[in-house]
Amino acid sequence: MTVRTRFAPSPTGLLHVGNARAALFNFLFARHHGGRFLLRIEDTDRERSTQHAVDVILDGLDWMGLNPDEPPVYQSARQARHAAVALELLEAGRAYRCYCTPDELKAMREQAAAEGRPPRYNGMWRDRDPAEAPAGAPFTVRLRAPQDGETVVHDLVQGEIRVANAEMDDMIILRGDGTPTYLHAVVCDDHDMAISHVIRGDDHMTNTFRQSQIYAAMGWERPLFAHLPLIHGPDGAKLSKRHGAQSVVEFREQGFLPEALDNYLLRLGWGHGDAEVLGRDEQIRLFDLDGVGRSPSRMDYTKLAHLNGIWLRQADDDRLAAEVLARLAGREGLLLDAVAAGRVRALMPGLKERARTLVELADASAFLARQVPLPFDAKASSLLTPDARALLHGVAAELAPIEPFDAAEVDAALRRFAEREGRKLGQVAQPLRAAVTGSTTSPGIDVTVAVLGRDETLARIGAVLGG
Ligand code: GLU
Repeated sequence: MTVRTRFAPSPTGLLHVGNARAALFNFLFARHHGGRFLLRIEDTDRERSTQHAVDVILDGLDWMGLNPDEPPVYQSARQARHAAVALELLEAGRAYRCYCTPDELKAMREQAAAEGRPPRYNGMWRDRDPAEAPAGAPFTVRLRAPQDGETVVHDLVQGEIRVANAEMDDMIILRGDGTPTYLHAVVCDDHDMAISHVIRGDDHMTNTFRQSQIYAAMGWERPLFAHLPLIHGPDGAKLSKRHGAQSVVEFREQGFLPEALDNYLLRLGWGHGDAEVLGRDEQIRLFDLDGVGRSPSRMDYTKLAHLNGIWLRQADDDRLAAEVLARLAGREGLLLDAVAAGRVRALMPGLKERARTLVELADASAFLARQVPLPFDAKASSLLTPDARALLHGVAAELAPIEPFDAAEVDAALRRFAEREGRKLGQVAQPLRAAVTGSTTSPGIDVTVAVLGRDETLARIGAVLGG
């Protein structure tokens, strides 16, 4: 079988993590089996489906490295085909015209509610002679669904699930205005796109049974289905705003790398032994549906941040420097010139060791783009005591003549100075760090000072000493 999967988002203006994970699983499954991964934009709701909403999806997929193998299919462009299939079903007697009025449908619902039954269409026009229809009255097209037997789905994640056909009423496939219903459109599209595996959230499970009836009526082979358990919040409740970021754009803004989000979403609900940190090639090699768990996953933001830190440390320094500079642009009090850019790049190996997100990385890099006098945080200010200032005088004198002004020479000079003063290295390094960074954390003081350079270091110390 040629594996063809698809991601079929409705353009609502955001790419939710649950959907992003569905896209990832479809992508990996196709790649693992040497197949193709397709994208279908389900834009039949013309009001919500703006170009902006479509772009959010396309950008999000691109950022995550999940670009489809063929141009996207737009569901709205296929309405004539959906209608044609509905007419084929009509002609074959597998569907019928229903002339029920809104009032009649309302009465049906009310009666069902009064009898404690789920609201169902009662088959009013199923066997009625269409000649009885009021002339020119609008009609919907309903599937003539089987009334006995069962519909069985062998779900590749959930196992075998059966539903009695008596539980399902005759669904509308074409509305009064000639537009297809969602369930019908999806079946026509999946069939025409030759989709072999439908991998989607298990909130679509009931749709699968109804869609199965359309496949059966058309005599089309059904794709195989895999329904993924949903992603919940850390407390087990439905993932919502109060838990934190939910959409790909939010995670991106909060400084997560695509490969980390990718890795995290994969591990959320799929496992392969103890493997935690998995790059794309490894993911493709290992991914299959048998590793997908059956119970809902819980979003763990702390774990994601931890994983992001791991990916940050492996990321290319030029790339991280560019990300940091983009994030610093527009912040007040910074001079983002070539000198600052050079410093950010040069100190990146040290900076990335201690950050978990690009936001933290940018915060930790900002001092490199400041000008004297620096702002000091509370901890740094409290370190700059009279005793520390006296030490800084000596440190400046020690550092001024060293040649070359590199990390090794800076380190040697600080050790020399500390020993002469009878101090521990930390007693010298901490005030110096406060003076040149404005904070109490930074990469090693030797590399930090070396990256700032002689003039800037002495200027920063001088500003603290008031000279
Ligand atoms: N458009 C549907 C959604 O965004 C997905 C439909 C499907 O995967 O079959 O939930």
